[in-house]
Parts: sequence; structure tokens; C-alpha cells
Amino acid sequence: MFDLLIKNARTITGEKVEVAVTAGKIVEVAPEITAEATEVLTLADGQYLSAGWIDDHVHCFEEMELYYDYPDEIGVEKGVTTVIDAGTTGAENVGIFYKYAVAAKTNVYALVNISKTGIVEQDELADLSKVRADLITKALKEYPDFIIGIKARMSKTVIGDNGMQPLILAKEIQKENADLPLMVHIGSNPPELVDILTTMTAGDVLTHCFNGKPNGILDQATDKIKDFVWEAYDKGVVFDIGHGTDSFNFHVAEVALAEGMKAHSISTDIYIRNRTNGPVYDLATTLEKLHLIGYSWEEIIEKITEVPAEKFNLTTKGRLAAGFDGDFTIFELAQGEKVLTDSNGNQRTTKELIQPVKAIIGGKVYDC
Ligand SMILES: [Zn+2]
Repeated sequence: MFDLLIKNARTITGEKVEVAVTAGKIVEVAPEITAEATEVLTLADGQYLSAGWIDDHVHCFEEMELYYDYPDEIGVEKGVTTVIDAGTTGAENVGIFYKYAVAAKTNVYALVNISKTGIVEQDELADLSKVRADLITKALKEYPDFIIGIKARMSKTVIGDNGMQPLILAKEIQKENADLPLMVHIGSNPPELVDILTTMTAGDVLTHCFNGKPNGILDQATDKIKDFVWEAYDKGVVFDIGHGTDSFNFHVAEVALAEGMKAHSISTDIYIRNRTNGPVYDLATTLEKLHLIGYSWEEIIEKITEVPAEKFNLTTKGRLAAGFDGDFTIFELAQGEKVLTDSNGNQRTTKELIQPVKAIIGGKVYDC
């Protein structure tokens, strides 16, 4: 007797699949399962099932004023079963965030900002006395299942006159703490992107990878991806979308794709303002933008399930396989017409939509 049996599903690759869940974990995945279950969920014809969607760059600590949101409003209600808050909090306030996070239906994890205050002010790394490795190590010991990495925001308004120093400190903190995942945000210079990418190493996550700024990956004079960006990509730096208010440009993404460079993971950098007023709205809308420029739905689903789970060491998430967590997203692909706007106000119209209809978290079913 299973707790939950999901019937009549198909994966994004078109295979028929049924899944049994007990005690919050997947216990069986097969083309057909005939057994008793406390709850049987039969999908409508044409609905798809994937592992639960993971958005690896969000801001959802509601006590902040600058960037804040509510985990379930950007998570379960939008078909996203797991969110990773990217540096909203630092070692000083991550414990308060944890109390809200555990109360959410959505799975919430944190990348702790290397500045002990998090993003209380826009320039959290302008004063390097706020970077306290000792406090980060202590927070990691206190919240080992919640803090899954560190975040450094490396752009002009954040770092003041500190140049590359915040990233150098972040790399030291990473080394001292078992090679924790490190996410680096990029934007306006200084610091120069070339210096950031030279300092980052394989497995480090570069978020806002397709921003349209002069200090981005595109050489605006030649309309080509900069050589040093290709070197970083080839050495294993992870390219993450981090759409955000300012950081996704259709043209940059298209030039990269034409040259053979794809984002590894897809994320929103969502918070209440870019959710309510756009251009982000939700993860599905970001997925539609990537599909519109040429990513297949199959690879898009990988980039919000398997890939982020692997990059952030969420070893029980991201796959439809026995032993993994009972987190799923049920969605439909529909025809329609929708205007999509990037962070620079460029608009494109898509006819192919992706619409989450249910999110299942630890075997519990929620409508989106
Ligand atoms: Zn962000």
C-alpha cells in the first residue's frame, strides 16, 4: 500500500510513466504500476510529470526591505517545489530566515551572503569588515541542512572600492568549508568580468550570465562572445540565468546559443517587485523565453531539475527515480500567444507556453 500513486503521466521525452511514493520518497517508477494507494492521482491526457522544479536563484526572506518575497508565492503556487535563496541573508540573519523557511510548504535552501548582513543595503560588500569567515563557519554548523553554499555579489554598486577582494575572500571561505558551492553575481564594472572569471574555478556558479551590460559576456563591438568567457565556460564555470530585473537579454542569449554556449541552469532571481510588475513574473515565464530562443523543452526541464540538484549537492532531488524525494511538477504545454519581455525592454511573442498545474512536495499534492 503506497501513500501516493501517480497514474497516466508522461515525461517530457514522451515516455509513459507512473510513480509510487511512500513516506515522502519515491519507491517505484515504471511505465505502469498496479497497486493500492491511499491517494491516486490520475493525470489528464497530455499532462507531463517531471521531478519537482528547482529555482536556484530567488530572494524570499520576508523581513528584508530591498529584495524580499514569500517562498510559497514564488514556489509551490508556481509549480516550483524547491527554491534556493541566493544571498539575501548573511551569517547574522540567516537564523531568522530559517524559521520562516521551515514553515513554508516549498523546500527552501539558502546560499549565505559572504557579508554578515546579507542584502540589508545595496552595498553589502563595500565594507570588508562585514565579511566574517568565522561567523559563516558557525552558521554552517548551526544550519547544515539549510545553508548549501555561499554568495558573493561582484558588481560596482555592491563592492564599493574593494575591487576583486570580496571574491578572493569568498574563494578562501569556500576552501575552508569543504568546497561549498559558490554563486557569483555579475553586473556593472568595476570589477571587470575577465578578473572575476579568471578567479572562479570549475563548479562555481556565474549568475546573470546573459545580462545585457557592457561588462557582460558579449563583446558589443563585434557581437561575439568574449574569448575569456569561452575559457571560463570550457574550464567548467556553471552558467546560470538569474533573469532578474536587470539581467536577462534575449540577444545575448541568442548569440551565445548560436556560438554553442548554453546556460547550464535556469533561474529567475525573482522577488516581489519583478514578480508583480515583471519582467520575471514566475519561473515558467523564464522557461518560455529560453524555449523561444531555441532551447528544447527537454533540456529546459533538465536545467531546472537534475542540473541545479547536482550543482548544489541536493543529492535526493532532481530525478524521477526510486530513493529520491517525492517532489514533482505536473505541467502542460499549450499553444497560445504571450508577449515576453527581457530585462532591457525587448519584446518577443511566443506561441508555446508551459503551464504548471500541480506541485507535489514530499508526496503532498498542491494545486498551482
Ligand atoms: Zn539575486
